[in-house]
Amino acid sequence: MDYGQEPSRSVMSSFLIESIGCPACGAPASIHNRSCPYCGAVLLLTSLESVLTREGSASSSGGLSRWRERLDKNPADAAAEFALGVCYLNANLKDRAVAHLRRAASLAPEMADVHYNLAVALYDDGYTLINSPDYQQAVAEIDLALRVASDFAEARALSHFIRGRKFQDVDTHAAISEYEMGVQACSDIAILHNNLGICLLKVGRLEDAVTTLRHSVGLGENAQRCSNLCLGLFKTGRYSEGIQYGLRAVALLRPGTRPNSQADCYNSLALCLWKDGQKEQAIINAKKAVSLSPTIKIYRENLAVISGHLLKMPVNRRVLVATLIAILLFVLALVVFTSVQ
Ligand SMILES: [Zn+2]
Repeated sequence: MDYGQEPSRSVMSSFLIESIGCPACGAPASIHNRSCPYCGAVLLLTSLESVLTREGSASSSGGLSRWRERLDKNPADAAAEFALGVCYLNANLKDRAVAHLRRAASLAPEMADVHYNLAVALYDDGYTLINSPDYQQAVAEIDLALRVASDFAEARALSHFIRGRKFQDVDTHAAISEYEMGVQACSDIAILHNNLGICLLKVGRLEDAVTTLRHSVGLGENAQRCSNLCLGLFKTGRYSEGIQYGLRAVALLRPGTRPNSQADCYNSLALCLWKDGQKEQAIINAKKAVSLSPTIKIYRENLAVISGHLLKMPVNRRVLVATLIAILLFVLALVVFTSVQ
């Protein structure tokens, strides 16, 4: 094998979707179409939440019965297992989808898109716990996808996304460089720009963050992306524009949106409303954030600040109390000392 050359087309043709077409409607499908141009079914996932929170899932019931029949006739039919996995994802049934994709991956280990879709479903946009078997398998599956098709751009981007997400809470700069490499590998995956934007906000590159977050919303609106842009606009003092995106975020909430993501939307909107002088509305939204995620401290602090119960609290209250006690003891000791002399 000549390692100096670009991977040949035969390597890139290791995609099951190209041979079976759209699992939902049967239309011809290409790896370059992440969704079916005819029925709208998602074929290649880039974010699990995006597919599970879509407005009106694709009608895949016809596809489901057709592929089930085919699987009944031949239980070792990798294409049927994969197709059922894709159909169940489009029907918002993640666990069933994962079960079928797992079987497809073991029946057709040479198919890159099977490993890739399984990896995205298992990874769950970074919500899967890092020490869980699902996480370990997601990492292994994405490695397999790249081994089968080394120039599979989405798979390359996902492998950087997984690494970036791992760094995000401990080393923001390392996370930024992983996300940037992900964007380089595949420039139009909204979730990569979204997370890059969050990290840029965190390190204080506010204008870069707003540009990046705008880009992520431009690639595909969802509640979380609009809410992060709203927060970026709050941090750069563009409150009225922030309110527009905050309202959009709230309007895009779906039953499948996680409570913490929902709380984020109300929190960002509340901050912009507050700075825009709409205190009553700000308090209503800040309270929603707290009720959705009561354990998250920042939402409670923001509600307190917006309500005017506390202004800023730069010094930790416990440190303040400890200092006061120390001063009191010192004064007492001084009084006792001077009175015995
Ligand atoms: Zn279709």
